[in-house]
Formats: sequence, C-alpha cells, structure tokens
Amino acid sequence: METDTIAAIATPMGEGAIGIVRVSGPDAIPIVNKLFRGKDLSRVASHTIHYGHLVDPATGETVEEVLVAVMRAPRTYTREDVVEINCHGGIVTTSRVLQLVLDHGARLAEPGEFTKRAFLNGRIDLAQAEAVIDLIRAKTDRAMAVALQQMEGRLSNLIRRLRRRIVELLAHIEVTIDYPEHDVEEVTRSLLLERCREIGAEIDRLLETARQGKILREGVATAIVGRPNVGKSSLLNALAHEARAIVTDIPGTTRDLIEEQVNVRGIPLRLIDTAGIRDTEDLVERIGVQRAQEVLQTADLVLLVLNHSEPLTATDRQLIDMTRTLNTIVVVNKADLPRRIELDEVRAAFADRPVVLTSMRTEEGLDELEDAIARQFYTGNVPAGDLTYVSNVRHIRLLREARAALNEAIAGVEAGVPVDTVAIDLKRCFDRLGEIIGETASEELIDQIFRQFCLGK
Ligand code: GDP
Ligand code: ZN
Repeated sequence: METDTIAAIATPMGEGAIGIVRVSGPDAIPIVNKLFRGKDLSRVASHTIHYGHLVDPATGETVEEVLVAVMRAPRTYTREDVVEINCHGGIVTTSRVLQLVLDHGARLAEPGEFTKRAFLNGRIDLAQAEAVIDLIRAKTDRAMAVALQQMEGRLSNLIRRLRRRIVELLAHIEVTIDYPEHDVEEVTRSLLLERCREIGAEIDRLLETARQGKILREGVATAIVGRPNVGKSSLLNALAHEARAIVTDIPGTTRDLIEEQVNVRGIPLRLIDTAGIRDTEDLVERIGVQRAQEVLQTADLVLLVLNHSEPLTATDRQLIDMTRTLNTIVVVNKADLPRRIELDEVRAAFADRPVVLTSMRTEEGLDELEDAIARQFYTGNVPAGDLTYVSNVRHIRLLREARAALNEAIAGVEAGVPVDTVAIDLKRCFDRLGEIIGETASEELIDQIFRQFCLGK
C-alpha cells in the first residue's frame, strides 16, 4: 500500500478564477500546515474550511491568500487525510502553490492516482472508478446519467448479487460432493439448471443494454443520403439547431461544413463518412454501388432524404433499394411544396420503417422526425432512467466470457457430467464477474485503467 503524500491541481487547466490544489496522504495536514499562516491546521476539526495565507518558509514571502479545507481519513475521497487549497489567482499562482507543496514533502500525483487510492482503500470498486473516467469524457446528458448511475454502484450491486447466487450454487455442489447419495445429486442438478438459466438471463439483459451504452458513449453512426438538392444540408442544420452547413440553391454545388456530432433528444448522432455525406449526391457514382452499400451497412442509422415535390428518379429508386433493409428513417422533404412523389411506392418499400414528411423551410415534421430517431434507440417500454447500462468495453467482454462459462456449466449439467466439473465452469463465471468490480483484477490492469485519468482526479 502506498503511504506517501500526493498533490496535484484538481481544477481544469485555465478554467475559472479559482484553482484547487488537492493534497492526499498521511502528511497532507503537516505539509500544508508548515506553509499556512492562520489557524493551526493540526488542531482543527475534520471537514472544516479555514481562511489564511500561504507563506514560503524559505523567504517569508506571502504567496497567496487561500481557503484551506481539512478533511481527515477515512471520510474523504481517497480515505486518506485530504487537504484542499483554494487559490483565487489563475493558473500561475495555483501552479506556484502546487510547487510549494511539492517542495515541502508531497509528490506530484500521477493521472488518476487520487481515484486509484480511493479504489485501493476500498472506497469505490473498479466499475465505479471507470465510471469516473466515463464521467470526465461523457459527451451528452444521458451518457453522463449512465456514468453517474454506475458510479453510484448500480452495476456493481447487480454483479455482486449475481456472484452471491453463484456462491450459493457452489455451496450446493460442495454438499453433493460430500454426500454423494443419488437424490441429493438429482436435486442439485435441477437446481443448478434452473439457477444457471436465471443468472444467464440476467447477464443477457445486461449485455442487451451494451448496444445502447455504446451508442450513448460513442454516438449513433448516422448516414444522411439522398440525391442533390433534396435538403440534406438543411436537415443537418435543423438537427444541429444552428446553421453550420452552407446551403446553396445550385444542385450539386453545396459546400457543406459538416458538423460531426449533433444531439437529438440527448442522443448523440455521429455523422459517418463526412466526405461521403458532403458529396452524397455522387456517393453511388463516385465509389460504386458495392462500396456505397458497405458504407451504409456500417451505419447505425440511415436518414434517406427524398424530395416531396418531384417524382422519384432512378437514383432515388437505387437509394431506396440500398437502404430498405437497413435501419432507415425516410425523410420526405419539401412537404411545403405540392406533392409529386409516389408516396405509396415509398411506404410500400419501407413497410415497417418510419416515413416522415418534413419541410425544412417551415420546420413542419421536425418534431416527428426527432421522435422517430429517439424511438430507434429507446426501444422497449422500460424508461431509460431505470436501466442499468453497460457501456464499458471491458465490462462487455467480461460479461460475454461469464456468459460463455455459464453456457458450458449448463451444457455440462444437461450432459450429465459430474457436478464437480460443472463447478469449475461456475467458478470461472464467478471470476469473470468479479473482474468487473475489481475483485480478481490484476495489478497491471488496475494501473492501466487508472492511467486514463486526468491529473488531479
Ligand atoms: P442538399 O443538396 O441535399 O444538401 O440540399 P440543401 O439542403 O442544400 O437544399 C437545397 C435547396 O433546397 C436549398 O435552396 C434549400 O433552401 C431548399 N430546401 C431545403 N429544404 C426545403 C424544404 O423543406 N422546402 C423548400 N421549399 N425548400 C427546401
Ligand atoms: Zn448538401
């Protein structure tokens, strides 16, 4: 266990008028006390804030007017003694305060080291620590909510409950091995099968949230396609709620400044192949049907834009063919103009997919379109707020491995292999789940996870 005292600037660089230097470790209070003119910090109560000045003991010079928060172990972020020095000056003074603390016995913290200590001292588990990383990186409100949930331990609690049930099963198997009468064995087998299936279903449910989790974290890969002048750039502008793309009246000459990420009802849409989108008008001609198909296949969502005021063209029909089997929403734009498009043909081609009439000029149909987009990603009748999402790649991999081990256990029971062999698979499932919350994680992995942090966290 580390026992030295670490320090870092805990506020984002260059942001705001207040800088915080965070110090954590057994010498946090004595180190700051040496520099502080004000109350004797070694005697103040825990979780109190004190006004005073920081003085360089070497020169007697006052460095900064500060507020110092003293928090004693174990009710702190790291479970160690923590002192936070609030400076009023900008980054220059804050850096000087940090330097002073470092000169008097603290070591500069590595990125994520505060959170790593919180983990090592048992205040948070690994899944929660990773949620802190997600929180720092979260792109949208909803991604933030997922990270917060995880930090509060919802995923961890679920995993713990699953592991407890596996331990119960392992105990049953132990009894069977100790009392190898036939009926005990039978009971154990049917119990095993039932429980393994229940646990498997729980893991599956968690894995099902992974797709949504990935989308929340990385954005929905979205392709906007349509022939020239149907209103793709205008649609992009409308979704972005700000005029970013340049819209021109001359077909095929639209020079779009592409906004790479837009938010629709809290769902981040990531526009894929922006070069392709810029010239989607030529997408097929430029790269050929085959390649265009491939590009579209990688999209989570395709927005096919058609022109309400013109009959379908050969290009339209080609695009319809390419997108009808994909996750497509059809946007029939320019609905403010008289209809000349064969709407029935379009509806028939996209039997169960949404076809939305819009006008980017009058903004008609935009709400409906946003509803349709949101519905694609909040499917089912579970309110999104009640779901425990799994969005971390490492968690997904471990859940899959746990599920695979469980499948082997189930197959073993069904094939009548000895229960002590089944126990090995169950134990593996138990270990994989444990890795998610860090109970069997290696030191190397832990280091690797915490290196992703910002300084001062
Ligand atoms: P793109 O080439 O598919 O990107 O199409 P643009 O978004 O550049 O739009 C082409 C032209 O159609 C521009 O003059 C737009 O102002 C116009 N336009 C776009 N949407 C609508 C609409 O819903 N109704 C009408 N009347 N004009 C539109
Ligand atoms: Zn355009």
